[in-house]
Amino acid sequence: MPIRLLSALAFLAVSSSAAPIKALIIDGQNNHNWRLTTPVLRKILEDTGLFTVDVATSPPKGEDMSSFHPRFQAYKVVISNYSDFGGGGIWPPSTQQAFEDYVRRGGGFVTVHAADNAFPMWLEYNRIIGVGGWGGRTEKSGPMLRFRNGAIVRDTTPGPGGHHGKPHPYQVTTRDPNHPIMKGLPPVWMHARDELYDSLRGPAENVHVLATAFSDKSTGGTGEHEPALMTISYGKGRVFHTILGHDVDAIRCAGFIVTFARGAEWAATGKVTQSVPPDFPTKDQVSSRQ
Ligand code: ZN
Repeated sequence: MPIRLLSALAFLAVSSSAAPIKALIIDGQNNHNWRLTTPVLRKILEDTGLFTVDVATSPPKGEDMSSFHPRFQAYKVVISNYSDFGGGGIWPPSTQQAFEDYVRRGGGFVTVHAADNAFPMWLEYNRIIGVGGWGGRTEKSGPMLRFRNGAIVRDTTPGPGGHHGKPHPYQVTTRDPNHPIMKGLPPVWMHARDELYDSLRGPAENVHVLATAFSDKSTGGTGEHEPALMTISYGKGRVFHTILGHDVDAIRCAGFIVTFARGAEWAATGKVTQSVPPDFPTKDQVSSRQ
């Protein structure tokens, strides 16, 4: 077969299936075990067949950060498994600017669990994640978001931002069943043992709460329905925020896996093409994968 025809056929073969979504996971510092969780997050995305995944690992805590310049703009979605908890790991100003520009111009972003603890003093990061916790956050950081009497309300009560009770399995309740990330999921499902973040605070602009979890006082919580899954729009960018995912056991939950992979696809493309698998947890039954 002539070479020209062969290459034309190869081109057709490539162009007939959708191009993979380029995803970048950021890690390197976190008060959680990113060395264990990043490979699992990566595998979750790769197992969908939709993503190719790179990882950008920052210098370790306490070392010079000036060389940390991930090429955000080369990706459709950036996933943060990074937190400068306790300070010291703030990105260089040019990297902060590149990240803000990336999201504002339409880049996708996913913040997983403690990534919303990062950068309490970086205003644009907090506008991108909507709400965050710890790091000295207070009412000055912005309101808490609570689900009361069928609606999300902004709670401006003074106090610290970010807290959780005793880790335990808990129910996640859908608040927008029509959003592409949530479509087809059970209205209530049991998440594997995890921390249930409460009292997160932030600018809380353009936040859409997809699901909440009840933070029971009996487990050290607030007695409030706290936001668990959210989307945020920032410029042309789409952001998916999950409070779930403290450790490997938490991210092996089929409920975490499915909402994370769907959230990443939605952040990248605005659509979700993934179906709901048969092992998705039910109202009362945890379901985890090996
Ligand atoms: Zn945690």
